[in-house]
Amino acid sequence: MYPFDYARVSTVPDAIKSGSRESAKFVAGGTNLVDLMKTTVERPAHLIDINALPMATIEAVNGGIRIGALARMSDVAVHPLVVQRFPAISQALLASASPQLRNAASMGGNLMQRTRCPYFRELTWTACNKRNPGSGCAALDGENRTEAVLGTSEHCIAAHRSDFAVAFAALDGVLTLHGPNGERHVKAVDFHLLPGSTPQLEHDLRHGELIVSLFVPDAPHAARSSYLKVRDRSEYEFALASAAVGLDIANGVIRSARVALGGIGTKPWRAKLAEEALAGKAPTKETFRMAAEAEMKPAKGHGRNNFKIELAQRTLVRALSDLAGGAA
Ligand code: SF4
Repeated sequence: MYPFDYARVSTVPDAIKSGSRESAKFVAGGTNLVDLMKTTVERPAHLIDINALPMATIEAVNGGIRIGALARMSDVAVHPLVVQRFPAISQALLASASPQLRNAASMGGNLMQRTRCPYFRELTWTACNKRNPGSGCAALDGENRTEAVLGTSEHCIAAHRSDFAVAFAALDGVLTLHGPNGERHVKAVDFHLLPGSTPQLEHDLRHGELIVSLFVPDAPHAARSSYLKVRDRSEYEFALASAAVGLDIANGVIRSARVALGGIGTKPWRAKLAEEALAGKAPTKETFRMAAEAEMKPAKGHGRNNFKIELAQRTLVRALSDLAGGAA
């Protein structure tokens, strides 16, 4: 370990003031940050414990649901409002991590989790642009079976690993952030950044800003939504491919569709091409396959992860078929 100081705060203004200091980090559940501190991949000088802030409420609000950023994943997963009105979110949370981790991890922290690319977490590998900008990317020609095939760059191909973030992006979620310059709102689809030439920049959260709450709007495609995760084993494993889908079907036609993919993108992957291909069509397997092919057409494998391109398409077709009631 290395030296750092630790402080608990009990108000949002105090948190922002403390968190605005150089090399300060907020900690809630600590399930990701503390891991990274132990290996010194993360080295904050000031650790600000925000667990006492009043930000854990899950409540119905005008037009949707508001989830406090400190609500625990396990509480959100089984909350009746979430189960009934946003099933994809409940299912994504229940498919995440382990029960023990879900009890500890906060919703805001889940969105802030960092990549599991082995080269990022292992300091003996120097070539990692995300950890050590300008050093290269060991995964490009190395162990990349679990890394991304969409949204990659020559500088980084690390897959984003949150399940919840995929459902949140699919269902038009919005984050509320508080910072030194006041409050602002960011759409879930805009919050995580593509790696481009700066893979060390992963999200649109400025230094000193705090995720306060998450809003998800009610909609027919939210009430009829689901999350399917395909992985190497059935528990405690990240997605090789996943799909959060929502369908509004009336008179045999898809009126609106929401689709996001996980495990295959460098950020939670809102599948706009698939959504466009689904709108106005009959919910058949042919329609679903066409939508999946449209979304994955720009995908690029790097050898060991080539299989994900077909796997993602099959995952999406199955998720849509199951949700539509077994369209053949
Ligand atoms: Fe680092 Fe990204 Fe390359 Fe992994 S994929 S080694 S995180 S730069």
